Amino acid sequence: MSAPTDTDRDIERDIERAAPSRSLAPIVVAVTSGSPADAAGVRAGDEIVRINGDVPRDIIEWQMATDEAELELDVIRGGLDLAFSIEKREGEPLGVDVSSAVFDRVRTCDNHCEFCFIYQLPKGMRRSLYLKDDDYRLSFLYGNFTTLTRFTEADLERVITERLSPLHVSIHATDPDIRSQMLKNPRGAMSLRWLRALLDHGITVRGQIVVCPGVNDGAVLADTMAGILDRYPELDSVAVVPLGISKFNGEAAMRFHTIAEAQAVVDIVDDWQDVFQATLGKRMVYAADEYYLMAQRPFPPAERYDGFPMHEDGIGMARTFEAEFHGRTDEATGVRRGFFAAVDAPPNPAAYTGLRSASACSADGAGTQATTISLRPRRTAPIGVLTGELGAPVIAPLIESLGREDVRVITVRNDFFGGNTGVTGLMTGEDLARVLADEPHGHRYLLPDVCLSDEGRFLDGITVDELPRAVEIIETDGIALRSALETGSDVASTRSRTENP
Ligand code: SF4
Repeated sequence: MSAPTDTDRDIERDIERAAPSRSLAPIVVAVTSGSPADAAGVRAGDEIVRINGDVPRDIIEWQMATDEAELELDVIRGGLDLAFSIEKREGEPLGVDVSSAVFDRVRTCDNHCEFCFIYQLPKGMRRSLYLKDDDYRLSFLYGNFTTLTRFTEADLERVITERLSPLHVSIHATDPDIRSQMLKNPRGAMSLRWLRALLDHGITVRGQIVVCPGVNDGAVLADTMAGILDRYPELDSVAVVPLGISKFNGEAAMRFHTIAEAQAVVDIVDDWQDVFQATLGKRMVYAADEYYLMAQRPFPPAERYDGFPMHEDGIGMARTFEAEFHGRTDEATGVRRGFFAAVDAPPNPAAYTGLRSASACSADGAGTQATTISLRPRRTAPIGVLTGELGAPVIAPLIESLGREDVRVITVRNDFFGGNTGVTGLMTGEDLARVLADEPHGHRYLLPDVCLSDEGRFLDGITVDELPRAVEIIETDGIALRSALETGSDVASTRSRTENP
């Protein structure tokens, strides 16, 4: 790793500040109307310090505790200690949304990977974005990848006892020396022993290999494939993804793939799929869609993704989007939560969506999905579909296949992050504002929701309301796009704003 600069030190400070410094009791952010909690008098803002005498460490323990039929809640409200006795049916939801998924400290990672995207963020973004978590609980809850370098015997026991499955593990290389070098952590050499232990106990594990050209591609990648076959054949699946590089990257050894390097990765994955299929009866490894774009190769046919087990990691999204768009399926395969899944969700008060209910009312009213359209484009107005540089080659042929002259793809270059950050989930408000300012008034602009947090903010903190044109936010799948194109703005729109004249 090169010598730290002032910017590196600023980022390190931000990373340290991103993790809460103390354990936090769950704070109620919303109470479902008519729920047991509502009937008992629990209110938004209450701090739940104990449930049946125990202090829950995270939302997993919270869920198990609140499934009980009889609950004693110790609560602090405005400095006063209160107690609530609640009787309900066993398993009936309590009707409370709480402030985060982890109440004790999120376990942060002690690795210093040169390819880490958090080190490549600009200074001054909101603190939660700098959180380097390496917490198996967030792996279970959100699909975040953990390196297991901070995993312990007690963690293993809990995972097995509570069946926290599936988990998601960063492998990168099965060679201990190369893995520890990539993680910049000597424990990286040995921590895959926990992967073996998890598999021994029947935990489903999905793996990930972030490929850095010149580091773990080529012969190292092939060796990792052999290592997986030899030592971890019970893995559910393994995603092979390219490293992300932003313009703030300070590591000279980290660079883009050349076309030939991307093609070599695709070839290795293809070859090893055949080996895994022949020996294990499943293909096991899948290359990210980005690789096929970089390699200038067609995406594999849908059947080669075996049900898209790693769709949320960008594996096979082009094929599912295509099938959804052309109406070959009635159900979206699932949405990649994008960057927020990794760094924004845990400390975000509204982020634990798993327990949120549509009727929940939030403390500040922010839970309401307002639809405010007072200057709406005509139903028949021309349509611009906003997407990132890597989304455009996927979506453009689909739009062209419609033969409609009123629909166009608007590619949003990512100047905010620069580098190879062309995925749609990384689109920022700043870049969208720049592009939309040059687009005509009165047109419809469709924006996929994958680039927005639950509160409607882009990664750079800008809100949809601050864009210079009204946008219609649609879900990030082919069904939603087709529906928005077919049905017109008033039906397709899920959220919009008054357009600045
Ligand atoms: S393990 Fe993940 S969060 Fe930690 S330094 Fe590496 S890439 Fe960053």
